[in-house]
Amino acid sequence: MRALYPGSFDPLTLGHLDLIERAARLFDGVLVAVLMNPSKQPSFSLEQRLEQIHLATTGISGVEVGHFDGLTVNYAQTCGAQVILRGLRAMSDFEFELQIAHTNQTLAPRVETLFMATAAHHSFLSSSVVKEVARFGGDVSHMVPEGVAIDLERLFNRKAASESRYG
Ligand code: ADP
Repeated sequence: MRALYPGSFDPLTLGHLDLIERAARLFDGVLVAVLMNPSKQPSFSLEQRLEQIHLATTGISGVEVGHFDGLTVNYAQTCGAQVILRGLRAMSDFEFELQIAHTNQTLAPRVETLFMATAAHHSFLSSSVVKEVARFGGDVSHMVPEGVAIDLERLFNRKAASESRYG
């Protein structure tokens, strides 16, 4: 069985990666797909996010990387994924995720949404927390894969340089 793991991944964190590794042991294939959400202004380009995911998942067998826009259920069906995988960090994630799962059920009853509990030691992690720490020069090496840490440093160094030039 094939699972689709959709998300913004802006950027990929070790929490995402842990979930991908565990899912890869359960499913024949896991397609990690970046959703190009028109209502979100990402910090990293689509190409950067795809590269970050590629780099971090090369050693995990059965993992593929893709991207899409539009409805997740449509993409799942196009890719032959029977399962949409989402991670749950805390109760606060649950209400929103359940609403989306119910909506998707009405759109495509044959596509199942499965929730995986995140690793407890990664449950504090989100892409926005990581960016907040990196913005102020904090160490993010225990939060993101190495390639992402380098990209974060570049992003905020460049921002700081342009702000000091114009600020
Ligand atoms: P989205 O904008 O779709 O929520 P994210 O990149 O924030 O995209 O999250 C993608 C998926 O990864 C979601 O299912 C989310 O619950 C899950 N996720 C987010 N943070 C973690 C984490 N620390 N550990 C495991 N899964 C996570």
